[in-house]
Amino acid sequence: MSILIQNGTIVTTDAVYHADILVEGETISAIGHHLKASPDRVLDATGLLVMPGGIDPHVHLDMPFMGTFSSDDYTTGTTAALHGGTTMVIDFVLQTQGKPLRHALEAWQGRAAGKACCDYSFHMAVTDFNDETRKEIREMVEDEGVTSFKTFMAYKGALMIDDRQMVGLMNEVKAQGGMVTVHATNGDLIDFLVAKFRAEGKRAPLYHYLSQPEITEAEASGRFADLADYTGVPAYIVHMTCEGALNQVRRAAHRNQKVYAETCIQYLVLDASLYEQDFDGAKWVMSPPLREKKDQAALWAGINQGTVQVVATDHCPFSWAQKQMGLEDFSKIPNGHPAIEHRMELLFSEGVNKGRISLHKFVEVTSTNAAKIFGMFPKKGNIAIGTDADLLLFDPNEVHTLSAQTHHMNTDYSAYEGMEVKGKTKTVLMRGEVAIENGERKVAPGYGQFVKRNKVSGII
Ligand SMILES: [Zn+2]
Repeated sequence: MSILIQNGTIVTTDAVYHADILVEGETISAIGHHLKASPDRVLDATGLLVMPGGIDPHVHLDMPFMGTFSSDDYTTGTTAALHGGTTMVIDFVLQTQGKPLRHALEAWQGRAAGKACCDYSFHMAVTDFNDETRKEIREMVEDEGVTSFKTFMAYKGALMIDDRQMVGLMNEVKAQGGMVTVHATNGDLIDFLVAKFRAEGKRAPLYHYLSQPEITEAEASGRFADLADYTGVPAYIVHMTCEGALNQVRRAAHRNQKVYAETCIQYLVLDASLYEQDFDGAKWVMSPPLREKKDQAALWAGINQGTVQVVATDHCPFSWAQKQMGLEDFSKIPNGHPAIEHRMELLFSEGVNKGRISLHKFVEVTSTNAAKIFGMFPKKGNIAIGTDADLLLFDPNEVHTLSAQTHHMNTDYSAYEGMEVKGKTKTVLMRGEVAIENGERKVAPGYGQFVKRNKVSGII
């Protein structure tokens, strides 16, 4: 199969130009003016931007949680991703404490195999670091192409590791050529506040927010940065939400350390005032919670300053019925919200079209930086000869409205209901195949492949 994309405006992290792209098989074979070719298909991209397909390095598909599962499986979740212009996701394998990493890896492989519509990879969440786990780190990196290891500084008894385990893991991951990523919040302080509010009978979703104040994230982010500096491991903080945490990354920069930071689209466009509306606030119960306007300003600045490199989603959807598990108690509300489909369009609308970030920065934080940081560049996140033809044809001017009536995520509400956005995904190519066209998915479940990633160095 060959496809010629004509008359588009190609946008990368460092260039904007009019040219045609020839795709042959799964990759880009030529870029130029008035390409002479006899393709099987011609796509007219007049008036459209042609950008690298999005990479969302923070999603939770079909994730077991509190006796249920996040409501998007690999087919619905990756379908929604493609509709929004995202052509690759990285999910989190969660080790069960007391069990090997491989046990969890096989469970996630089983849920993804034959079902994914876009490409995917895994982070390995290490929830129990011991002598047996240590031996598996090398296997993950060398044999499985899983080169990033997630840690939790919260959720004691389920996911959290202590600082002793953290240092041990960092040393081993550094030795094997991987990266340590972190959910950086102070679990003990949060547990204290949750217990306090529950004892006082304060059980509305608002108290989820109040039990995770900024200091819980700032403290843990700083501690993680310190331990990463001490061990020298490449380090990445996931879903950063607030000024206090960002300032810890800035502090690390002062001593010549590099700590990567990811924020998520919701922290840029939604704020904590949404928790003031009784149980409806459960739609936005996630950890960390939404923050204040001043935090949004800090995160946009961080993107422009290059201290925040990635905008992801932490997509972890639940149906409204699942959210009601916490009707009487905020601590029982499944954490997470649906966003995988809207990340690119929301960031374009609120970022590029409102003059907050440049077109090039948009490509960086939605695609190219994640490919570089997580060991997939230049195969992914790039438009160049020989790269995977993961391409997004995007109308920068089309205005449309987000709604549960029209989204493709498997949830019966939208966290962005009625929000008007300017900028729309029109056509998506996934490894050389037309994956989205005229609002329909054109590739079958199973087309998406697991991507083995390279070792990382912490230098991009
Ligand atoms: Zn997450």
